[in-house]
Amino acid sequence: RYKEKWAGTAPKISATRLALQNFDMNYSVQFGSVWPSIRVSLLSEQKYGALVNNFSDANRVSQELELLNAVDFVYESQKAAWHMQWDSRVEGVRGEETAPQETHSEQLSVEQTQAPSLLSASISPNIKCYTFSKGDVSRFPPARPDALGTLGYYLLDAASLLPVLALNVQPGDLVLDLCAAPGGKTLALLQTGCCRHLAANDISASRSNRLRRVLCSYVPKDISADVHITSWDGRNWGELEGDTYNRVLVDVPCTTDRHSVMEENNNIFSRKRLKERQTLPMLQMQLLLAGLLAARPGGEVVYSTCSLSQLQNEYVVERAVEVAETQYNISVHVEDLSYFRRLFQDTFSFFADCRLGELVLPHLTANFGPMYFCKLRREQ
Ligand code: SAM
Repeated sequence: RYKEKWAGTAPKISATRLALQNFDMNYSVQFGSVWPSIRVSLLSEQKYGALVNNFSDANRVSQELELLNAVDFVYESQKAAWHMQWDSRVEGVRGEETAPQETHSEQLSVEQTQAPSLLSASISPNIKCYTFSKGDVSRFPPARPDALGTLGYYLLDAASLLPVLALNVQPGDLVLDLCAAPGGKTLALLQTGCCRHLAANDISASRSNRLRRVLCSYVPKDISADVHITSWDGRNWGELEGDTYNRVLVDVPCTTDRHSVMEENNNIFSRKRLKERQTLPMLQMQLLLAGLLAARPGGEVVYSTCSLSQLQNEYVVERAVEVAETQYNISVHVEDLSYFRRLFQDTFSFFADCRLGELVLPHLTANFGPMYFCKLRREQ
């Protein structure tokens, strides 16, 4: 017979342990033989990246970071991809019969002008982030303020820049960051220098204040004054301001897998947050749907989480696309981001088998993530 009194006094299992048990059960099925390696990485020290603040003396900051032997992974990845593309085209041209009306050098100069634009066309510009190379577990010192009190770089999980890069913000864009606090990605969006208008929203007023403090430490007043910070429930955004934005970032609340196995404090696996955890996929789907409704036709939306869970990643995307189509008559195209895997393979370890979107897996030599991101285009 069930003895309530005994159950009440039984030793409580910690939230971090519960998280690990839950992940062992689900992720061993989802990732098979790769799970033990992800698991040990989740439990090991995370790596950071230093996002250069273009509103400070960015050249000096970059030089200081280079003295530490860190490299700007965004720039280095594009350079490597450019070289790869260049080499393969040179090989291709060498292997081909020369067209009678064109010389080799004419063909090469056409390729040379086309290659960089091909590679830089689809990621947000002007973002510089320094990381230590694979296997190097050095840490960045905290950023120091310059004479005006502005900090030179912002430390964050470098994988969390991938959703911002995937958003491909272009000059003059109206941008919405639907779940913005504490503000790492909002700050990265501002680094692009492209946002004609940036709306940064987070349901939590206290976390929105953290976002204000971040902007205050990194961004000149005239720029941060133009960021429209609100604390609304993002699920209602589509009704309040539909068909408006060129770009929408939907960086949803999730099981924050790395935090959940390491920190008791504010852990979503604590018993009192059970209901919240169980309803997460529904909340995530509603937020993504609101983001799609807030985008104008032709607008692009990036959905992201820092969880490995398929239930919070691909399934949420699939369900939101389905509801957008059936209930709102909006057709949505899920974009192929596999070029991200090729572009950033030297910095991050990617999961090869995502059905939709891309997933950065924690790995001992590149201990970033988890970070899932998927890009959607609203067709009409
Ligand atoms: N994008 C942020 C960054 O890069 O610093 C991190 C966002 S965090 C993963 C998710 C955020 O969603 C939390 O700050 C949480 O307060 C917010 N949130 C939760 N429910 C929300 C809702 N219904 N509407 C808007 N924001 C919500």
